[in-house]
Amino acid sequence: MIKELLNNENKELLANSKIAGNVDLLQELGILEYIENMHQEVNTYKSLLNRGLDIFNHTSIDEILDATVFQISDHFLPSFIAFLWKPIQNREDITIKSYKNHEPVDMKIKVDSIAPLESFFRQYPRPINFELLAFELKDDKAVMPFKEVDPEIVVPILGQFGLYGIILVGRKTEKGGYNVNELSYLQQLMCFVSQAIKNHLHYEHSLRDIKTGLYNHGFFMTRLCEEISRTKRNSYTSSIIVMDVDRFKNFNDSYGHLAGDKVLEHLAHMIRQGVRNDDIPSRFGGEEFTILLPHSDKNTVWTVAERLRTSIAGMKVPWGVPLPQVTISLGIFSFDQNTNADVEEIVRRADVALYTSKRRGRNCSTIWTPELNETQTKKDSPS
Ligand code: GH3
Ligand code: MG
Ligand code: MG
Repeated sequence: MIKELLNNENKELLANSKIAGNVDLLQELGILEYIENMHQEVNTYKSLLNRGLDIFNHTSIDEILDATVFQISDHFLPSFIAFLWKPIQNREDITIKSYKNHEPVDMKIKVDSIAPLESFFRQYPRPINFELLAFELKDDKAVMPFKEVDPEIVVPILGQFGLYGIILVGRKTEKGGYNVNELSYLQQLMCFVSQAIKNHLHYEHSLRDIKTGLYNHGFFMTRLCEEISRTKRNSYTSSIIVMDVDRFKNFNDSYGHLAGDKVLEHLAHMIRQGVRNDDIPSRFGGEEFTILLPHSDKNTVWTVAERLRTSIAGMKVPWGVPLPQVTISLGIFSFDQNTNADVEEIVRRADVALYTSKRRGRNCSTIWTPELNETQTKKDSPS
């Protein structure tokens, strides 16, 4: 029996002659066993902390989710893990990413909104057994989409603006289910994950425009500065598009600001749909939008601009009354390592091209050329 307790930590303890002389008594009182349990608990917490820190070390949401799945799967294999979160806090739209056997899979979880869970998790901000949650909620309709995937625990992702998302963890694949210690470990680990996702979402929100969900002016300028340096170092071409809604003041005057806001939201959606993941679509201010397109030359960016312009000119915005078609004008500027212009000058050139589009009658795109600058300078200089 003493042998069993002679693990590394207790060996040190038993090296003390007073303790060694009283081993029988210590054992009879259960003190050695108690110390052994404490050691095990400390090791569990050390492992939890290391795994939590590993998850915190990742910055993109995909990295956080991948690291979480990796860390959990190293310990035990849940039948699935699904992350559901609202990328934009003032909208109900949900993004879902699920994993089975460490690999991303499309589980087709039919959840449109996590709003029905919000008031419960505000009062109980902790991981909870799914069956207990279903019992507490007493709302079969809200619980049904989750029931279909049969989770073991539900973990809330809570922040200052309420419920940002939830994590569903499936049952253990091996027979017997989770034991109490495993379940508690899993729940504690998921608190780290929830915090890491919350931090990520807060960071993302600080880069975004609230009304449209696109990147904000500050982030666009920061990324543009970085991109200018990169094109100089690595000799490739990148471009920007600046666009502005045509005669939007008239639109607001006729249909009201709320209808105008709805149009801006739809426009932002079209812009997001019309660009690649690496592009930076942003709201530059008011009814003006910009897109940074890394690794895109004049021909590519012209195609993107014209595709956007025509799709927006055909855009339908549902509203109480039929709304007239909205159009945009666009200005394009491409830059590479030979471009002799700083960030302000690059934006100014795209703006010059945009105002040329306005002068040409609106609803068209223009690529900047030095001659346009001439025209603009002549027009701007006092006569
Ligand atoms: P132009 O074709 O020359 O661009 O004409 P415009 O009327 O669009 O240009 P102007 O700069 O005179 O007016 C811009 C309008 O955009 C005025 C402003 O009310 C509207 N606007 C800017 N931001 C918002 C917004 O967030 N919501 C709404 N509804 N309207 C906005
Ligand atoms: Mg305008
Ligand atoms: Mg404008």
